[in-house]
Amino acid sequence: MDARLRLLILGGTTEASALARGIAGRCDLAPVLSLAGRTRNPLAPPIPFRIGGFGGVAGLRDYLVGERVRIVVDATHPFASQMSRHAAEACGALGVPLAALTRPAWTPREGDRWTSVADMDGAAGALGARPRNVFLTVGALQLGAFADAPQHRYIARTIDPPAADLGTAMHRLILARGPFGVAEEIALMRDEGIEVLVTKNSGGAATEAKIEAARALGIEVVMVERPAPEDVPCFHAVDDVLAWIETHRAAP
Ligand code: NAP
Repeated sequence: MDARLRLLILGGTTEASALARGIAGRCDLAPVLSLAGRTRNPLAPPIPFRIGGFGGVAGLRDYLVGERVRIVVDATHPFASQMSRHAAEACGALGVPLAALTRPAWTPREGDRWTSVADMDGAAGALGARPRNVFLTVGALQLGAFADAPQHRYIARTIDPPAADLGTAMHRLILARGPFGVAEEIALMRDEGIEVLVTKNSGGAATEAKIEAARALGIEVVMVERPAPEDVPCFHAVDDVLAWIETHRAAP
């Protein structure tokens, strides 16, 4: 019988990649990293991996049973709430221990001018009636929420191209993947005459420069806050989640 601990990591983030690197080569674990399949050419992870959805809660339950998964780490993005909810339901039903590994949210500092909102519709509403120059960094799939506020001039930056109709609704579309530098972000916001930045509270260092740039320029930030997390143990550091995994090694 295989004595290694069968571990499923739900990934698609730098945190999941860091965890994968942290356990690569360990003989006491039998991990598998799960990716949704959104990135066209993902770098091959240093541990075994699978790609694609499970087929909802029922599909995930079948996978956990079929693969004899003993422990699950949800290292998905803080805004990937459906996957996290499915993991909580499936693991809860089967009694499989589940913890989250995520980056801390950004919190406002002195000089920040944040308007916090719950979702994209709230962000579009928070821009107000007066036309403004808006920098959208919310992801290609979220641009539709701003179609109802066409009075603004939108500069959108996305990793993947948005749907054609959403792209043309933007005054300017920038296709780029971070990390970006603070000086670069300041120059962009200045050149475009940006008056307000709209962003998700993703947290993490890779995209934090835009927050620092907005602070330096005194630009308002409409911050879309994270969906409520699942009620599971939550860690921000790989070492902490590894320690948590150890506490479950002896469990039947
Ligand atoms: P989501 O809305 O929570 O999930 C939608 C569906 O995608 C899930 O029900 C599941 O399909 C599948 N899925 C999501 N993550 C998966 C994973 N790690 N492994 C296998 N299937 C997965 O997620 P999303 O917001 O579309 O994000 C998709 C992926 O991109 C996530 O892995 C996330 O970590 C990553 N990501 C998201 C964001 C963001 O802003 N949302 C940013 C950066 C990276 P089934 O129901 O068929 O199982």
